Amino acid sequence: MRLTLLLLVTLFACAPEEPPIQVPLSRDAAVLAPVLPPPGGSDALLPPKPPGASGADAAPDGPAPDPGGGGDVGSGSEPDLDSATPPEPEPEPEPEPESEPEPEPQPEPEGLGAPCVGDGDCVTGVCLDHLPGGYCSQACAEVPCPEGGACWSLRALDGAEHCLRSCGDHGECRVDDGYVCDGDATCYPGPRPPDPPNSEPGAPFGGPPPECDLPDFRCEGGEARCGEVVAFLPEEGDGYWNYPENGETPEDQYRSFARRDLVQLVKYAAAGTRCLSAGWDRGNHAPLGLGDMSEANGGIPGSREGDPDHPGGTHVDGHDMDIAYYQIGPEQNLLRAVCDHASGGEEAYHCTAVPDRLDVWRTALFLGLLHHSPRLRVVGVDGRVGPLVESALRTLCARGFLDGAACEEHALAWEEEDTGRGWFYHHHHHLHVSVLGQGRAVPPGVVGAGACITVDCR
Ligand SMILES: [Zn+2]
Repeated sequence: MRLTLLLLVTLFACAPEEPPIQVPLSRDAAVLAPVLPPPGGSDALLPPKPPGASGADAAPDGPAPDPGGGGDVGSGSEPDLDSATPPEPEPEPEPEPESEPEPEPQPEPEGLGAPCVGDGDCVTGVCLDHLPGGYCSQACAEVPCPEGGACWSLRALDGAEHCLRSCGDHGECRVDDGYVCDGDATCYPGPRPPDPPNSEPGAPFGGPPPECDLPDFRCEGGEARCGEVVAFLPEEGDGYWNYPENGETPEDQYRSFARRDLVQLVKYAAAGTRCLSAGWDRGNHAPLGLGDMSEANGGIPGSREGDPDHPGGTHVDGHDMDIAYYQIGPEQNLLRAVCDHASGGEEAYHCTAVPDRLDVWRTALFLGLLHHSPRLRVVGVDGRVGPLVESALRTLCARGFLDGAACEEHALAWEEEDTGRGWFYHHHHHLHVSVLGQGRAVPPGVVGAGACITVDCR
């Protein structure tokens, strides 16, 4: 979370006006480039640093210079000269030289991402001691990172640029010290999602994903048809339930209208989640509850009663939908808090503890499937939900449950502190999906993990 990919900082810095677009807090375009090996001849650029620092040139193997190793070679030479003396049984030419230097058991300096107390513990030369158990690193403002690392700007160090260890799986990180392979494919301290369903050894998720026959999320017919605001019908379908909420009745679901392409996309992702997770031994297996969308005329829900319930610019013209989280515990997946959300006895309107009623795996699966549509603008979740779901996404991608954009450059947004993007409050009991109209010009920052809840970030 405290990472900001350098490239992004630069990109956003030169972005057009768009005042309130904050530099993304998190991983965003994580896959952009950091893992690329440094440009050719990198080794030549490496600064004077402890030998063997770059990991790649590990050949010399630090402590092995001792040249006099060949102890036996000269030992038995010219014995005959003093032939007068009886043939002594030659007192075993002990390999004296070896025992002499007695290799002091110096702890080998460790590589990128290893625990450390001081800089001297790290072959990379720097110990980031603000991270749990220390973290061997290397400054990279002017020098490429060693192989297996990527350069990041660290907020905790006022943006100083340091190498972090790259990874593809949690197991490559110091999980016992609280590190995960986070959404940036970097070993970093973070929350870990619960173990996958069916997690008996060797069989997470109960096996590979099943074949699923799903409704098409693609809308044919251009903006005139796909952008048409339609009722979300039927109320109950494969994997979802558009139940009456916020003053709706079964006969009057006046807050449940959305763009045709968004309706199709949500039906697709809900059906996909139901099918792909059917064999999981966890969760309530209930359909996903759908909340506020727009009114029939494209107005903000509540407008009919003179009381619009969402900020201006959201839930307009069917672009946005509030949707429940999949849950563990309750029997239904209705819009409700999935975490404690009080602070000092007061309502905090956001998760103040780890979400303990969240079905992380199904929620991640649903969010990942939404990414199959190129029209997806952003999905916002609570600041405590985001890191868990992002971490689960990585695993689902690795296991073949997800592919495409969700596995490359996802559009999940959250705020761990209020930076004014609109995600920090009120997303502890639902997620917010937003799509773009077709053929719409898209300024930077409007789409993806750095986006705000409103298109213009107001
Ligand atoms: Zn919303």
